[in-house]
Amino acid sequence: MSHTSEELLKAIIACSPDGYVSCDEFGKIVYVNEVVEKITGWSAKELIGQESLKIYSLPESLTSRVGQEGKVKPQAAILFQRDGKKITLKARQIEIKKSDKENSFGGYLTIFHTENPMTLNVERAQVEFVSTVSHELRTPLTSIKGFTETILKSGDKLSDENKKKYITIIKEQADRLIRLVEDLLAVSRLESQNFQLTVRSLDLKKYINKVCESLISKSAKHKLVINIENNLPNVWADADRLEQILTNLIDNAIKYSPNGSVVTITASALGTEKNIKDKLKIEVSDQGIGIGEADLQKIFTKFGRLDNPMTRQTQGTGLGLFITKSLVLALKGQISVSSKPGQTMFTVLLPAVIPDMAIPVSVIDESSANTKGKTNG
Ligand code: ADP
Repeated sequence: MSHTSEELLKAIIACSPDGYVSCDEFGKIVYVNEVVEKITGWSAKELIGQESLKIYSLPESLTSRVGQEGKVKPQAAILFQRDGKKITLKARQIEIKKSDKENSFGGYLTIFHTENPMTLNVERAQVEFVSTVSHELRTPLTSIKGFTETILKSGDKLSDENKKKYITIIKEQADRLIRLVEDLLAVSRLESQNFQLTVRSLDLKKYINKVCESLISKSAKHKLVINIENNLPNVWADADRLEQILTNLIDNAIKYSPNGSVVTITASALGTEKNIKDKLKIEVSDQGIGIGEADLQKIFTKFGRLDNPMTRQTQGTGLGLFITKSLVLALKGQISVSSKPGQTMFTVLLPAVIPDMAIPVSVIDESSANTKGKTNG
């Protein structure tokens, strides 16, 4: 028994794990398979006749001509789902000829590869995130439950000293839970589409002093040295976010260096070739254990805590530097770190306010469409 090539093609597409969308020469969708219906949430009926751009966005270099299919590598493309979400998949696009004429352009067939490392990585990252969060929540809760039960069971038999000790542990663990939940909320705000910044011209010196005062009152065991260049220009930043960046970096410098050592905070202006000082450089350095070369990238990832005695004995969620880096990037800045045993330095660059110049477009561009620019603090 022989098949027509059309039947054969239909059968292949129907049982393929990949998504297929074909459109005509005008960019209108003429066919989608079930996989595309499942991923996007739209039915074929709703999609046929619509602009193909309604459901996907592809890199320009994706298309290959008939006969050259193997030459263009699949690239990341976005499929838009009915509920407004987006999914990134690897895709290929092939030009289709009109069946009747030899060399006439008849549209495109776009193939979305569903079983590829990119989707698997996203899914794996989500599963890992949930399991790490559950673990991070369970550890303090187990400790709170254990010590509460001990106090309840022992009743009057427990000495005042032990009672105080257990209640202190319960409080510390409750604080740890609050910090974790606050950090998780900060991460979820950063990743939500409603993330908003209020960028103003701010006096950096004021914020450095404020953060140092509040941190030194918590731990008087370190010496904080502040070096701020005279006549430092203002910084373009969101006040709360600037405070959070400074707090995370200075708090880490204190946490990961021995008592009695010095933490230095430096702020200066950097000029471009035309000698316009358009960047502010903030450096936070400590005399602590340092971070190994191989770990320098890990510390900026979610839950990226390093396995060393100093980290083990300090409390933290491993989310601080992930949040810090995301905030610095959202403010159109840069963050870097250099480290060796006995010295770690985090450097942050943020846009400086240039006198008589309006807020630069680079500070509020389309990548932060929600950023509200205000010129005065
Ligand atoms: P944490 O809540 O654990 O402090 P962070 O995201 O702020 O989380 O930091 C991630 C990890 O990077 C820390 O657990 C620690 O191992 C390492 N780290 C951060 N800052 C320093 C520093 N100044 N010196 C040495 N190690 C650091």
